[in-house]
Amino acid sequence: MKTVFFDFDGTLTKDCLPTWININGILRRNGAEVTGELYQMFINEEIDYKEWCELTIAKLKKYNFLRSDFEEVARNTKLIGGVYEAFETLRANGWRIQIVSGGITEIIRLALGDALKFVEKITANEVFFTEDGTLDKIYATEYDYKGKAVYIQNYINANKISPKDAVFVGNGSNDEWVFTTGAKTICVNPEDTDPNNKTIWHEAYVDIDNIKTILPAILDKDSLEKAN
Ligand SMILES: [Mg+2]
Repeated sequence: MKTVFFDFDGTLTKDCLPTWININGILRRNGAEVTGELYQMFINEEIDYKEWCELTIAKLKKYNFLRSDFEEVARNTKLIGGVYEAFETLRANGWRIQIVSGGITEIIRLALGDALKFVEKITANEVFFTEDGTLDKIYATEYDYKGKAVYIQNYINANKISPKDAVFVGNGSNDEWVFTTGAKTICVNPEDTDPNNKTIWHEAYVDIDNIKTILPAILDKDSLEKAN
């Protein structure tokens, strides 16, 4: 039950805006005033993650965010190179693939395209629409920030897998708790985290265009040679 957990925004994407920044752009277009206020309140622990999501969704509803707007965000989301091939190689070598993200499941699904078939599970925020395509509700993920470590720890315990058979790939400050699970942590294209912090990140690839670059940190030499 070897499993690689990937963060999404900035880890499996490159040269595009993160999901929530993209969403804010559309909100502004719809006339909303968007500030970093809610994020700051969350960071200052004035509101929790769920409240942050609820306040955000209220704003999305107020400014008439539609299913088509989410589809636009997905179209604006560009995958880093090699996602399909890297996932295929990992699967061929017996690794399961999961995505643990603070983004939005539907956007991740759409952005992954064909590579989605290799993914066992996506854990992220879920949005629901009414039949006419207007926003209905959001289920906030419990598994962002510290929650990412909680999710992976639960998975390790439930499946009785050795932490060495768990790998996490991420790029940001919301990924900084995962090392506490004992999983191997790999930093790619770091955004707001220090890739040289060896406690938090066991390996780091600071500027890559293709996610296949990290495979030597996961697969042994024989498996790699077979894949190439
Ligand atoms: Mg990220």
